[in-house]
Amino acid sequence: MAKPHSELLTAELLKEYQTVAYMMEIYCKRHHRREEGRTLCSLCRELLDYAEVRLDRCPYGQNKPTCNRCPIHCYKPEPKAQMKAVMRYSGPRMLLPHPLLALRHLRHEKRPAPSSKPAANLSNRHLRTKNKGA
Ligand SMILES: [Zn+2]
Repeated sequence: MAKPHSELLTAELLKEYQTVAYMMEIYCKRHHRREEGRTLCSLCRELLDYAEVRLDRCPYGQNKPTCNRCPIHCYKPEPKAQMKAVMRYSGPRMLLPHPLLALRHLRHEKRPAPSSKPAANLSNRHLRTKNKGA
């Protein structure tokens, strides 16, 4: 798979997005039927787009903790359950195809959860639109 690309995200958030995209690819390949030439089925594409928007709007911005450590529950119940299944299946299967992203993710999961509320206006979305002068 070509490196997953996001129009919205950069730096740590982009790495997070790529990690999720690869995990979804591993999961989808095993569980769903995909159209020829696609890396994800339409359901998984939708879920990945949803994840991208959540990352963009995460109030922790580039300091985002891993989602399982985050005190803010920003996913709706249905995509949350879907994503949980993806993570559970693909987490242990990431190490061989994507060792650097997998190790990064494991390292971040060991970080303590943030104890305080995020500062205002840290989200990628906020910085992105501010830089555009919007
Ligand atoms: Zn799928």
